[in-house]
Amino acid sequence: MSTIFSKIIAREIPADIVYEDDLVLAFRDIAPQAPVHILIVPKKEIATVNDVSVEDETALGRLLTVAAKIAGDEGIAESGYRLIVNCNEDGGQEVFHLHMHILGGRRLGPMLAKR
Ligand code: 5GP
Repeated sequence: MSTIFSKIIAREIPADIVYEDDLVLAFRDIAPQAPVHILIVPKKEIATVNDVSVEDETALGRLLTVAAKIAGDEGIAESGYRLIVNCNEDGGQEVFHLHMHILGGRRLGPMLAKR
């Protein structure tokens, strides 16, 4: 089953794409929670972190190198930013195509909401 992110990768639905290479695509989140809120997704459809395998290590490593590049491009490298990968229900995952959030451009506050 194709996820919404696979449809973005295939250009079947539009997105504000900021970066693409052979392994990953990055685009702005449709409901940004910070001035900079970008998602980086491996082109391979991996449902969750629980589903990664050794063969995915190159693509998964690429998520971080691309995050650093995008942070520089967006002007938030020095001010700082947060990278988030949610997994399953308790992690708050909504789209079951593994992705990394880049959030920055303002003080993000505590890492977790107070209970
Ligand atoms: P998750 O909760 O799974 O870690 O994050 C999913 C993210 O995908 C959410 O921040 C949500 O706003 C974003 N999102 C969901 N559907 C779309 C879409 O169609 N286009 C874009 N650009 N972002 C989406």
